[in-house]
Amino acid sequence: MSFKVMSSTRTDIILHVDMDAFFAAVEQRDRPELRGLPVMVGSPPDQRGVVATCSYEARRFGVHSAMPSRTAYQKCPDAIFLPVRMERYQEVSHQIMEVFESFTPWVEPLSIDEAFLDVTGAVRLFGDGPAMARRLKARVRAVTGLTCSVGVAPNKFLAKLASECQKPDGLTVTPFDAAGIHAFLGPLPIERMWGVGRKTKHVLLSHGIRTFSDLQAIPEDRLSPVIGGAAAASFKQRALGVDDRPVGGGQREKSISRETTFSEDVTDFDRVRAALLDLTEDVGRRLRLAGLYAGTAQCKLRWAGFETATRQRPLVPACRDDAHLRQAALDLFARLASTRPVRLIGFGVADLRTTPTAADGQLALDLDGAASDDPKQERVSQTVDALRARYGPRSIRRASSLVN
Ligand SMILES: [Mg+2]
Repeated sequence: MSFKVMSSTRTDIILHVDMDAFFAAVEQRDRPELRGLPVMVGSPPDQRGVVATCSYEARRFGVHSAMPSRTAYQKCPDAIFLPVRMERYQEVSHQIMEVFESFTPWVEPLSIDEAFLDVTGAVRLFGDGPAMARRLKARVRAVTGLTCSVGVAPNKFLAKLASECQKPDGLTVTPFDAAGIHAFLGPLPIERMWGVGRKTKHVLLSHGIRTFSDLQAIPEDRLSPVIGGAAAASFKQRALGVDDRPVGGGQREKSISRETTFSEDVTDFDRVRAALLDLTEDVGRRLRLAGLYAGTAQCKLRWAGFETATRQRPLVPACRDDAHLRQAALDLFARLASTRPVRLIGFGVADLRTTPTAADGQLALDLDGAASDDPKQERVSQTVDALRARYGPRSIRRASSLVN
């Protein structure tokens, strides 16, 4: 039996997702009478302070984020000023991040309303970058009623530039080849470069550097004396669209876990077990999205009164299909279960790797001596993933015969 080694030369597909006028959009969603009106969220105009976010209707008057509210009021006296309801926005932010995580475990939030997603491993499930971006936008809209703008690119720097290109409700795909990237970046003004504030912009302009094209053309040893060696090196790389920073925030090669806290303590054994199996499937889906196999499974149980216990067992051979993960979860659960009311149940996997082989390169053997990552079970799980991706997480339920 042979295993395909994941190609290390594949092109990454990175999305940058940015909600449109987030705070104002949430207010307009929650209060339909505000839709179509200039709305500013932030300090009231009679106080010192700034506009945190304003609706697109307000932007037409020349108002923008971080503008003093007093100035914003002068530009648009009919605007409706609303206080910041951060808790509300955080709630919605949580929903958005959950949508992102249904596409890939590698989500790096940049702020309350934007994130990078490394979706390279999710292509098989959701289609290519643009198809994935369209599907993600539709899902965000279905879940929150809000629009976002998405950039699709081979790296973080380009993805972030791209998401800003067609706001609101935009979808911009950058070129993925060096020549195309060069041409895409060329006309952009230098203030679009990361790390260029007002001061640096002024310095660059005074040396005749106005666009990325100018940065691409100027030799690094001429740029260094102007802005310093470190910035010069970084700007030169970025101007060519080079950015090797990985998307952080994922649990790459550590662990993947999910847990559920019940709204009231549960004594119904079947209900706890059903919740555990839901968690197990979610963990399995994340594993497959990440292209990883798990070598260890863990179950966690917290009883009323906060006493917590965990049990762990090796997965031999390492696996990522639902059937084996379920079996491990139920086995661990049987060791933990008691008649006491349950507050929380959790399932997780660790010892993650890109092939079912152990870290020393030896294919792990199960007790019967059979060496297998069970490709048939994995195909079943992947089919379920694909159907759920298309028709929603609840479209397929386990047959009760499977859980016994
Ligand atoms: Mg935003």
